[in-house]
Amino acid sequence: MKKIAIAIHGGAGTLLKKNMTPAMEQSYAAALEEALTAGRLVLQNDGDAISAVEEAVKHLEDSPLFNAGKGSVFTSAGTHEMDASIMDGKTLNAGALSMVRGVRNPVSLARMIMEKSGHVFLAGEGAMAFARQMNCMFEPEEYFFDELRFQQWQQVKGTDDVKLDHSALDEKKFGTVGAVALDIEGNIAAATSTGGMTNKKFGRVGDSPMIGAGNYANNLTCAVSCTGSGEFFIRGVVAYDVSCLMEYKGLSLLEAADHVINHRLKKIGGDGGLVAVDANGNIAMPFNTDGMYRASWNANDEKLIAIY
Ligand code: ASP
Repeated sequence: MKKIAIAIHGGAGTLLKKNMTPAMEQSYAAALEEALTAGRLVLQNDGDAISAVEEAVKHLEDSPLFNAGKGSVFTSAGTHEMDASIMDGKTLNAGALSMVRGVRNPVSLARMIMEKSGHVFLAGEGAMAFARQMNCMFEPEEYFFDELRFQQWQQVKGTDDVKLDHSALDEKKFGTVGAVALDIEGNIAAATSTGGMTNKKFGRVGDSPMIGAGNYANNLTCAVSCTGSGEFFIRGVVAYDVSCLMEYKGLSLLEAADHVINHRLKKIGGDGGLVAVDANGNIAMPFNTDGMYRASWNANDEKLIAIY
């Protein structure tokens, strides 16, 4: 029987368990389940892996709970600048963007860049001009306003401090979102989307839009979407590293993903996690933080929604 599988994440730095109320836990679980189901539905209806990851990530971008799309953190200028990427494991085509403002679903823009721009990576004003040409949906600044994110920014505003998305209690919290999927044809894909870091300036770009760092997909090996301390994920070329360990060293998906997150990334001081799938439907979701908002629906029809 042909297999389908999907895994998603909503960031690898969760509220500490002691500060997580049952009501909050429930809303995170419900948002994850909604996105997972939306992605899975695409696969169930014989849709391709690219459409499934786009759909799942769109749902996460539309939720204020995660640091992407609507829930994006504030930059030092009080704006929201988003980064996103998508990759097709069948063709190795990819699309990515950074420093984009006002676009409701950056993941869909990433897909348009992949399919229609003739390029891989567009940034800033140019990316937004392309988005307008493609009739992408834009939202006003108020759409991206969130009281918690605003308070997070107030804590560091006017300083040189740049914070990964964190709670009002100053816990570490990475909120990037992502998805990986295997479709009925045996093709895999990955997508990642983020608002980056609170109070970021100087056009800071993280790992999320960088193919090979925060996102990668290759039918021969795996599809990977990362979350965590972006600078370390860039230096560790984390997503591609998982793929390389499988391709060149023959490691299984689980071995490769675990080794990269718990050994190689840790060794250089990086915090975070990833979700990954291979062409056989195996799923890995390792993290070296206290928790990672995550959910999966594997090829045996088993569903998992977890935070810690
Ligand atoms: N990796 C993201 C970045 O550095 C942050 C995150 O995962 O929340 O922009």
